[in-house]
Amino acid sequence: MTEDLKEYDKLIKEKGISDVNKMLEESKILTKNIPNLKERHEKVVAARGNVIEASVKIETALNELITKTGGENLVIDSEKKELHLITGAKKENELGSLPSFKKRMNVFKEILKKKNDEFTFTEYIQSEEWKKKQIDFVKHFKKCELCGETEQLSAHHISYANFGHESVSDVKVLCWQCQLEQKQNPIKLPNSHEPPLFADLEKFVALRDIFAHVPISWFAKELEFDDNPQYKHFFKLDSKWKNVRVAFEEFMGIQKNILAVIPEYVKQVELERKMMSSILLGTELKNVSEDDKRDNSTN
Ligand SMILES: [Zn+2]
Repeated sequence: MTEDLKEYDKLIKEKGISDVNKMLEESKILTKNIPNLKERHEKVVAARGNVIEASVKIETALNELITKTGGENLVIDSEKKELHLITGAKKENELGSLPSFKKRMNVFKEILKKKNDEFTFTEYIQSEEWKKKQIDFVKHFKKCELCGETEQLSAHHISYANFGHESVSDVKVLCWQCQLEQKQNPIKLPNSHEPPLFADLEKFVALRDIFAHVPISWFAKELEFDDNPQYKHFFKLDSKWKNVRVAFEEFMGIQKNILAVIPEYVKQVELERKMMSSILLGTELKNVSEDDKRDNSTN
């Protein structure tokens, strides 16, 4: 033993720190019975790395979606003299106020819920059931609530609380002109079904947290996460996730599902944008900007 090591040894004994040699001996005994420790360690490191990589991909996609979609349809920015057909739920500089992955995921869930409600609402408004009800409501109110017009009347929700079972207190009757000038309340349906992706998003966040925070139990027979009481809550959704392989496979499956849904969602938004621009402007935005370019070049 060299002089410094002797010094060190003395210090350890003096301070009552466990003897390094003793600790080494203990760890040898503890690790002796774990087969393929190195291989298992590598597997866990790879799994954690893949989970982080997959999360970054989803996070990037989420940032795109919540800053480009999910906001209001048709916003006129009078300051910038710009017309936005679809705005983002959050502005890019607001992303900083959503520091955690979970918070961004929650914004995305709100967007999906809103889309879902809008879809359910539109389907209902086009149904025979609503058309019949609407005739009754128009007969009941007889004229436009705002201007008294008696032609071209239609019924509109003022409350969605009794959606599907409306009575006269849930609607107002407006003429075509007044209806156009009305700002529509955001559609929020009670008891609407959760979009099927919700459960997956919940699991994705929970599994990601496990891989980010829970240590491995090196002494379990299988490759398992530590389920000491302090980590128990991580396995609330599914106790099978204690098994690293099970957790990893489920996580990757969910990631694939989410990534498959995102392009579908983007397609839907694109279609909406096209529909709105052709209704409003009589042509597509792309053509408008091309016309504009042509005009500029001829001037
Ligand atoms: Zn009117």
